[in-house]
Amino acid sequence: MSLQIIPIKIQKEIGLDVNLVDLILESSEINDGDILVFSQKIVSKNEGRVLSLSSVNPSLLANGIASSYGKDPRLVELILSESKRIVRMENGIIIVEPGLRIGDLLGVIMPHNWVLVGLSGSIDDVVGGVLSTNTHGKDTWKNGNFSQNIVSFKIIFANGTTKEIQKDKDSELFNSIVGGLGFLGLITEIH
Ligand SMILES: Cc1cc2nc3c(=O)[nH]c(=O)nc-3n(C[C@H](O)[C@H](O)[C@H](O)COP(=O)(O)OP(=O)(O)OC[C@H]3O[C@@H](n4cnc5c(N)ncnc54)[C@H](O)[C@@H]3O)c2cc1C
Repeated sequence: MSLQIIPIKIQKEIGLDVNLVDLILESSEINDGDILVFSQKIVSKNEGRVLSLSSVNPSLLANGIASSYGKDPRLVELILSESKRIVRMENGIIIVEPGLRIGDLLGVIMPHNWVLVGLSGSIDDVVGGVLSTNTHGKDTWKNGNFSQNIVSFKIIFANGTTKEIQKDKDSELFNSIVGGLGFLGLITEIH
């Protein structure tokens, strides 16, 4: 059995008025039994999530990260400001985006009797920030720093590649990035 990846060519400009499913199904390149994969860009355009870069005002954090990696600070600002979701919660693991406030995360997990260790005193910290500083809490003498909560995370390196770093399998890289003040890349998802 072989796997073939076939791009579907769409001539039409995608906007809010387009029904994506109908548009794709009209394509002659699709056959019965094919699996359809949508890239996120076409969905964003269809949802009207389009922004003029000139309207984006980069924060100090976005400017700092962008100057470290030679990126456009406005693009970094967009990644940071759009990364505040809880992605999903399953099998005792919660997957979050780095811009999620610790206070909001606690609000979701505490009703499940889940706890976090190594928290600073500020509920306005974000998960990416406390990971990158590996905060300590009043329980750290016993439970360790914030990194004790983390199983893995996704990061974009300066060369644009993305990797999921697992605590068990990539311990050297894991320990360098946790508490690494964002010097090694932009964290995009935390488990
Ligand atoms: C009232 C108060 C009490 C505090 N008490 C403690 C304490 O007890 N213990 C303690 O350890 N700290 C404490 N702190 C310090 C503070 O909690 C930490 O410095 C925390 O990391 C700041 O989080 P932040 O969300 O503001 O991150 P930021 O200051 O925005 O970022 C921190 C670092 O993380 C990097 N970073 C952020 N997001 C990403 C990302 N997505 N990818 C890569 N890098 C990223 C930034 O470049 C920066 O270097 C306290 C702070 C306050 C205000």
